[in-house]
Amino acid sequence: MTVVVEAKDLRQVYKIRRGLFKEPAQLQAVGGVSFAIEAGKTLAVVGESGCGKSTLARMVCMIEKPTGGTLMLDGADAVNTPAADRGRLRQAVQLVFQNPYGSLNPRKKISAVLEDPLTINTTMNRAERTERALAMLKQVGLRPEYASRYPHMFSGGQRQRIAIARALMLNPKLLIADEPVSALDVSIQAQVLNLLSDLQQEFQLAYLFISHDLAVVKYIAHEVLVMYLGHVMEQGPKADIFERPSHPYTQALLASTPGVAGRNVQRIVLRGELPSPLNPPSGCVFSSRCPYAVERCRAERPLPRPVDGRIAACHFAEQFLESGFPSSATADNASLPG
Ligand code: SF4
Repeated sequence: MTVVVEAKDLRQVYKIRRGLFKEPAQLQAVGGVSFAIEAGKTLAVVGESGCGKSTLARMVCMIEKPTGGTLMLDGADAVNTPAADRGRLRQAVQLVFQNPYGSLNPRKKISAVLEDPLTINTTMNRAERTERALAMLKQVGLRPEYASRYPHMFSGGQRQRIAIARALMLNPKLLIADEPVSALDVSIQAQVLNLLSDLQQEFQLAYLFISHDLAVVKYIAHEVLVMYLGHVMEQGPKADIFERPSHPYTQALLASTPGVAGRNVQRIVLRGELPSPLNPPSGCVFSSRCPYAVERCRAERPLPRPVDGRIAACHFAEQFLESGFPSSATADNASLPG
């Protein structure tokens, strides 16, 4: 199967000014993320707000240049590619946003919204552009006569269908969907997710799917990447992550979403708030909230490593997999398994 996007040790560090006489602080928004997505497959990135998933999306769609690591898109180096080739690469990656109304120009008819990418990036004549726009409307389940209407004349679900149609106008290889259904009613969410699945099969699209909703991720993903404070906590096939998580953070996320986890999910209650990325905990970045943290966790950072078919960044991932998560998980001194 063709690999559409491959990231290795992708990093993003921002310099934050703290005043005239102070050195700028360093904020590590993404601290070394690696993944590959094949054609026809979906990688879902999950985590709380501020975990770095949207920064990761901006780097993959070439809005932000990474400060470290490599990114191959459609076989080409997306970080160091010459300006002349960036246009072709940008066409291969398209975005679908959370708020379909905000992403559609309210003063443009749907026909213009769909045809604009063709006008800018192709040599198609007007008749060809119109034909393609009408075909794409049909592809996303909308009637051709909708082309002469304005965005405000549609429901939220219809607007998201239009946004998806616009994203597909240039035949991309990779679609980055940033919380694409979280602004929609639950019944409409299912329709849009089904549409995304159908389009993926038909066009063999790769999806980078950003979401905080594990129920949605369970439906659409093939692989799952769990992020916390810019770092990978756990990453692997959906079945492994949902049925047998090996990282306490994954376990806590699953336990907080009713109906998504496998049987025997031990409830873990996280302590405190997400720490500031300007001042992350020493050692394991999750140690300030992990109920199983011991001295070693605060002294030594666990690097992501292969554990039973997935990647996990926890010193005790093997023990958690073998013996499960101890039940006294809300206590500060919860004992480790094994
Ligand atoms: Fe928790 Fe320690 Fe594992 Fe980090 S390394 S997730 S603090 S048990």
